Amino acid sequence: AKKSGKGCFVFWHRQFLENATPERIQIESDLRDAITKNQLLVHYQPKVESDSGKVTGLEALVRWQHPRLGLIYPDRFISIAEESNVILELDRWVVNSVAKQQQTWKDMGLPLLPISVNISAAHVTRMELVNVFEDVLGRYPFLANCIDIELTETAIMADPDKATEVLNKLLKMGVKASVDDFGSGYTSLGYLKKLNANTLKIDRSFIDGITADDYDRDVARAIIALATSLSMDVVAEGVETKEQWELLRSFGCKYLQGYFFARPCSAQDIVKHFLLPQ
Ligand code: C2E
Ligand code: MG
Ligand code: MG
Ligand code: MG
Repeated sequence: AKKSGKGCFVFWHRQFLENATPERIQIESDLRDAITKNQLLVHYQPKVESDSGKVTGLEALVRWQHPRLGLIYPDRFISIAEESNVILELDRWVVNSVAKQQQTWKDMGLPLLPISVNISAAHVTRMELVNVFEDVLGRYPFLANCIDIELTETAIMADPDKATEVLNKLLKMGVKASVDDFGSGYTSLGYLKKLNANTLKIDRSFIDGITADDYDRDVARAIIALATSLSMDVVAEGVETKEQWELLRSFGCKYLQGYFFARPCSAQDIVKHFLLPQ
């Protein structure tokens, strides 16, 4: 660092300070311990079939019970975790935590729903991700076909050849992939076919506008048509009203997710409301 000269140091330092709000510094220094101190937890949000409203799967969403800041949401710490290798540990922790949860539910004799885990951009193009799943499926073999991943298109497009290689390895183990927040980034359509992902998740920003905005409606419809013609499943994210549900169903969108059906909630609430016979 010394060799790069004083000027470089000053430049880096200024950049650092601009990002260095007190909260950010606090989060950054506490994050490393959050895992070992057992402060992370997973909430689950159902995915439903649009024809029947029946729950067909769950998405795992990490939260952090911070000792002073209270319960904090991933938008406040994932990007900070991504600036260091903490994100690799965090993703691994979530995958393992989901596996343990599935084992618990299996032991209780409850029906197993596939659960998808969000994987950070930093992880998508690394073979470590394959190791994470080899390891977890080695210990919980019944999970093949019951644990999946979600990747954003931005993460995939950062290195699509490598992402394709990683995804193909995972697919062979029974781990399926969804492209998350689809429509918000710049996926090359040429790669989409090669990628072998199973599902497109339409970004919430389009679902927000589908009942009022022609453009959003056309984009949502086009994504559904694209998924259908590539033989992929399609999930609409962020469905908050009955009108959005009905419109999406009429467009042929097979799966839905959003506050209208269920907010993300604790494992206990999932059992109570969705896994036990009603
Ligand atoms: P995402 O994967 O696109 O997850 C959907 C987000 O939208 C979740 O926010 C969810 O609570 C929220 N949401 C669901 N339905 C509705 C709705 O009807 N209306 C509105 N307004 N919001 C809805 P959350 O849990 O705060 O997560 C934010 C993002 O953080 C996720 O976006 C994902 O990219 C990332 N993330 C979450 N958990 C993990 C994790 O375990 N690992 C990594 N690497 N990233 C994660
Ligand atoms: Mg997701
Ligand atoms: Mg999303
Ligand atoms: Mg998102």
